Amino acid sequence: MEICQRCNKRQAITVIGGRKLCEHCARDEIIKRVKREIYDSKQFSFNDKVAIILDEQFRPLSTILNFIISKACYKCKLQVEEILINADSNYINDIIWKMIIEGEKLSHKIKILPFTSDFLLTYLIYTISSNDSNYLSFAKSLVVFNNNIFFVPLYSTSVLELKGFAELKLKWKDAMFDKIYRWTLSYLKENFELFHTFHTSIQLFKKKTCKKCNAFIDSGEYCQRCNKLLTSLSPLY
Ligand SMILES: [Zn+2]
Ligand SMILES: [Zn+2]
Repeated sequence: MEICQRCNKRQAITVIGGRKLCEHCARDEIIKRVKREIYDSKQFSFNDKVAIILDEQFRPLSTILNFIISKACYKCKLQVEEILINADSNYINDIIWKMIIEGEKLSHKIKILPFTSDFLLTYLIYTISSNDSNYLSFAKSLVVFNNNIFFVPLYSTSVLELKGFAELKLKWKDAMFDKIYRWTLSYLKENFELFHTFHTSIQLFKKKTCKKCNAFIDSGEYCQRCNKLLTSLSPLY
């Protein structure tokens, strides 16, 4: 049995920040990490209304996230609500787009996206081979645009590091995405630190952003999804 390198008492179950930790210390480390993200964002105040936006596939993550947020900001008494959206599509970009568009409509002060680093790393690889607009613009802790505050507290935390809360086995309906996700997870089990280095590569994708959903786009003012949406909303002549 491997012993936790923090408490030196219990059995280690995962690695966080290069240290082998037990369930108890692993939870504590993640809560501390999110607490720091909340503090550094300077966006949270007492009693704020906060929404965790999810599609059904993110359900296990949003449950854990809800728990972490309430613990991490114990004194702020945040009113956290999980908002389920239905994208009517299995395609990952349609789902993220819908999460953002629906998130924008909410009156909650802060909108939380349940993206983890393994999800974002998979998304980075997935995006390279596609010429669609992309949401790598959300691969950071705080994204502010059009008077919206989107918070991504787990952007540098992987599901492997969340093992202290639950052993998550996520499955994605987007077949290609799911395939890359499996590969990413098995690869990262051996190369833990890669999660923390890929954020630098995202800088390479920095481009124009869609004026409505903040997706990275090549040209124009809006991404193709927002373009379609805005055209359908405009009055008929
Ligand atoms: Zn421990
Ligand atoms: Zn857009």
